[in-house]
Amino acid sequence: MHRLTIHELHKKLKGKEVTAQEATEALLKRIKEVDPKIKAYLTVTEKEAIAGAQEADRRIADGKISPLTGIPLAIKDNMCTQGIQTTCASKILEGFIPPYDATVVKRLKDEGGVLLGKANMDEFAMGSSTENSRFTVTRNPWNLETIPGGSSGGSAAAVAADACIAALGSDTGGSIRQPAACCGVVGMKPTYGRISRYGLVAFGSSLDQIGPITKDVEDCAILLNAIAGHDPLDSTSINLPIPDYSKALIKDVKGWTLGVPKEFFVEGMDPQVEEEVGAAIRVLEGLGATVKEIALPHTGYAVATYYIICTAEASSNLARYDGVKYGFRAPESKELMEMYQETRSEGFGPEVKRRIMLGTYVLSSGYYDAYYRKASQVRTLIKEDFEKAFDQCDVIITPTAPTPAFRLGEKMEDPLQMYLSDIFTISVNLAGVPALSIPCGFSNEGLPIGLQIIGKHLEEERIIQAAYTFEQNTDHHTKRPKLS
Ligand code: GLN
Repeated sequence: MHRLTIHELHKKLKGKEVTAQEATEALLKRIKEVDPKIKAYLTVTEKEAIAGAQEADRRIADGKISPLTGIPLAIKDNMCTQGIQTTCASKILEGFIPPYDATVVKRLKDEGGVLLGKANMDEFAMGSSTENSRFTVTRNPWNLETIPGGSSGGSAAAVAADACIAALGSDTGGSIRQPAACCGVVGMKPTYGRISRYGLVAFGSSLDQIGPITKDVEDCAILLNAIAGHDPLDSTSINLPIPDYSKALIKDVKGWTLGVPKEFFVEGMDPQVEEEVGAAIRVLEGLGATVKEIALPHTGYAVATYYIICTAEASSNLARYDGVKYGFRAPESKELMEMYQETRSEGFGPEVKRRIMLGTYVLSSGYYDAYYRKASQVRTLIKEDFEKAFDQCDVIITPTAPTPAFRLGEKMEDPLQMYLSDIFTISVNLAGVPALSIPCGFSNEGLPIGLQIIGKHLEEERIIQAAYTFEQNTDHHTKRPKLS
């Protein structure tokens, strides 16, 4: 049962072949079997899951079934869950029990979705390997010696290992798409503002976006249907009607123009990634699409721009963790300043401290114009690059990440190398446009490779259509890790 997708399990629940409780119990059993190896979860909410499943079964008995009723899901541990510890994989939030649900969590529960637990991540979503978690290192189900990607590595590994049916992640610079690519699953970062961030612990508020991580494109559309839409509790959420994303599950790209940015196919990219992405583009061409080389001329500035903007926003967002309001407080301090200092020194890990320091620096008086203001200007140029590109094509196709999953520990001593893992995903967040990663092949070592499909603002439907067409004409999504 754990192998099923959302739409497959939904059919069985609807046809009364299984109950939500049976499905949830099967998933909890699967977690017990595989999670000691992959460590995707920080908290497994067994009791709540069973109670949620029983409630779903009552609804089903009353004939009130919707696509997520009774579906067991995992949630990244930076989304608030009422009554359930939410840590962002940080010691500073250890013991923090939110008094409310994030809007996305509430929407899933309103549909009868079942919460299996909270997924591991890089501390405060800062990282590309999930190794920055202060609690545990998640492993890639395809090869336990490699990283699952990050920062939503727990969510992606849980989906790939069938330790949940689907999951939610968050993406500030690639944190849904890059782990989805590393773990061979589908991950989408919707348009900035399409999904409410209310109850998502803020990292880079102008970049952060929640999105689905799923086993196939159909599930991606189903989850998106449930979580997208305006929320008065998030002032950046877009007040526009939401289409039915399932209607975009169409196998057709005939006459479409695929933009392929020349700046994304540069030296230093893993040749196997280049090969598989090239093959994927040829599949779409074979289905009637035309390929056009496009230019995104400011791509080379994206990583630097991102690391100014996201650290600036993070330094401000993380100022609230002072030992007074949330979770952890250093126990020994004698006076207030000492308490702040010791709480923050012990509570935050090295990468988070690095970002707070960088962010404080780029915002400081005398440097603000040179760094933050300049970065904001470059961000506008990057956004305009995309606008111009979309005058010439329907979707943009790139690799999701420059390499398949790397080995655990390989990049921990070199933050710059780690930052480059997101070189193809970061500009999408700066521009605020939607993008999805879909499996498009495997390396010689059997590690998944991801294809990124980028769309215009609010054109998630086109992305879904292109991804679905590719998926239904290939068999990458049917492969599962052996986990032996
Ligand atoms: N890896 C990038 C970073 O470390 C992106 C993280 C994310 O998207 N949350 O900031």
